[in-house]
Amino acid sequence: MSKEDDIVSTEEKTVRLLDDNLKRMDGRKLDELGDIRIEAGALGRADGSCYLEWRGNKVYAAVYGPREVHPRHLQDPTRGILRCRYNMAAFSVGDRKRPGPDRRSVELSKVMGEAIGSVVFTRQFPRTSVDVFVEVVQADAGTRCAGLTAASVALADAGIPMRGLIASCAAGKIEGHIALDLRNEEDNFGDADLPVAIMPRTDEILLLQMDGHLTEEEFFQALDMAMKACHEIEQIEKQALLKKYKEALGGEE
Ligand code: ADP
Repeated sequence: MSKEDDIVSTEEKTVRLLDDNLKRMDGRKLDELGDIRIEAGALGRADGSCYLEWRGNKVYAAVYGPREVHPRHLQDPTRGILRCRYNMAAFSVGDRKRPGPDRRSVELSKVMGEAIGSVVFTRQFPRTSVDVFVEVVQADAGTRCAGLTAASVALADAGIPMRGLIASCAAGKIEGHIALDLRNEEDNFGDADLPVAIMPRTDEILLLQMDGHLTEEEFFQALDMAMKACHEIEQIEKQALLKKYKEALGGEE
């Protein structure tokens, strides 16, 4: 290793994520959720939609259907099919991301689609499909959680029958401490990230992934922290949906 490489790696190790009072660099406490703003029905052409801002993340979700499946051989006479496509725009991150699908977006589309598929009553609309599009226009870590939360609001906005709303949030480990809702720098320089999605009505876990290392005790601490946050997020989702429908009915906010 050259002397120059040595300096770079030393610098990387000195990135500080917590101050002396265990406050994070954006001023949040370890168990504090970033700011979330949700707008239901943000897109005019979709059957249901949502725009969500969560810290530095900006995400659109659009839902189409139930509608006729094309190609037709994909139709299932016993149930509707649920398709989800996650995409991150080329301009959504600091370095330009190569446009189009990659391994990561294929994986995220799959795990998000499975989480959504387990709450939607697909047997109520056989031969049709419900298509969920999640477009990340600005990314700051936690986009699968932001995307799933936005998708849940868009599905409810489209009137798709579901067992309950989905709420999603990650917890992780930074400088040896369990922390909620990591931002990009914390995700990159931290020790672990644990994205979680649940149906808060029953606390059923719909998505659980882990990147990095946690002890068993830390894992359950992080899971508990993320699940508590999901209950807070579900309230914000409900407020967004109520706001849209109250406005549509001409009522007070
Ligand atoms: P999530 O967004 O669900 O946390 P990852 O852990 O894979 O998913 O990604 C963490 C963050 O890393 C993303 O939110 C984004 O800010 C950044 N990122 C992901 N892919 C790229 C990429 N190709 N180029 C630059 N930054 C990226």
